[in-house]
Amino acid sequence: MKAMQVKQVGGPEAMEFVDVPTPQPKANEAVVKLAASGVNFIDVYIREGRYQALTPFILGQEGAGTTVAVGAEVKSVKPGDRVAWTGILGSYAEYAAVPADRLVPVPAGVTDQQAAAAVLQGMTAHYLSHDTYPLKKGETALIHAAAGGVGLLLTQMADDIGARVIATVSTAEKAQLAGDAGADEVILYTQSDFEAETKKLTGGKGVDVVYDSVGKTTFEKGLNLLRPRGMMVLFGASSGAVPPVDLIVLSQRGSLYVTRPTLGNYIATGDELVARSGAVFDMITSGKLKLRIEHRYPLGEAQRAHRDLEGRRTTGKLLLIP
Ligand code: NDP
Repeated sequence: MKAMQVKQVGGPEAMEFVDVPTPQPKANEAVVKLAASGVNFIDVYIREGRYQALTPFILGQEGAGTTVAVGAEVKSVKPGDRVAWTGILGSYAEYAAVPADRLVPVPAGVTDQQAAAAVLQGMTAHYLSHDTYPLKKGETALIHAAAGGVGLLLTQMADDIGARVIATVSTAEKAQLAGDAGADEVILYTQSDFEAETKKLTGGKGVDVVYDSVGKTTFEKGLNLLRPRGMMVLFGASSGAVPPVDLIVLSQRGSLYVTRPTLGNYIATGDELVARSGAVFDMITSGKLKLRIEHRYPLGEAQRAHRDLEGRRTTGKLLLIP
């Protein structure tokens, strides 16, 4: 089969389009023929070696497609079942072997491409807004990179809850998308100081929560924008890692909370995985959650997809089609 393999970590060119043996299922696994693989910023961190994986590896950790074979112990899925998954490396490929207990069924009203576009970023937006800091109607959230993959979904969920969303983005086109997704105010953080703007917008009161996936360039100012006892949810580092912080700062700025969550801990059990993916799929079928699949790249063009993502040229979701 064809796959995008990394033999040595590095830039986008570290991904090579190669022929490798099609995987066979171990006793607890199912082999899935991929209809689409999701591209995520975490793939960049892994490709670069910021998050470690044993080389050589096939990149990608989100996909959807049809089960073609199952191992001897697998009872939960059978050949022909449409499934999706996240968190297992190896989805930039035509086939992937996935532990059966990490697969979720894709309901009839959701296409394979929608499933591949929603499991990682959709479940992330869901746990951030419903569990990490369960947003309430009338509260105010600052969401950075709101026109990105997670950003557009998180903005829609926060808006649906009835929260006021102050969004940041880098361009006017992205501002339009964030507004359409439900942001009440959008700040071009590349052109104006989002700290001063947000203070103005909240009458100096600050926001209840900051959802920050940008990291290095936004974290510190975000802390200045929280109301006393507000929460900083740092969930990514698209601009680079946040330097170490002296915890006394949290006291000085108003008894703040900081968390650095990751999806894996919010779908750790089978029950939670099924419930959370089901909640996201329900939002899609009911029309509450709109997916923006901006680009579909042939699998062999994963390098281009990464260059676009890292170059801030994308909005919404990117898919690789084998
Ligand atoms: P996005 O589609 O959001 O792409 C990243 C966006 O970050 C860009 O479009 C850009 O938006 C913004 N950005 C700001 N500064 C930079 C920079 N210097 N270089 C590149 N981008 C920059 O990606 P994803 O939706 O895949 O992921 C978003 C973030 O969420 C990532 O940091 C990812 O690691 C994290 N994440 C964390 C999870 C978790 O559980 N902790 C799970 C899923 C994602 P703009 O041009 O508007 O500034």
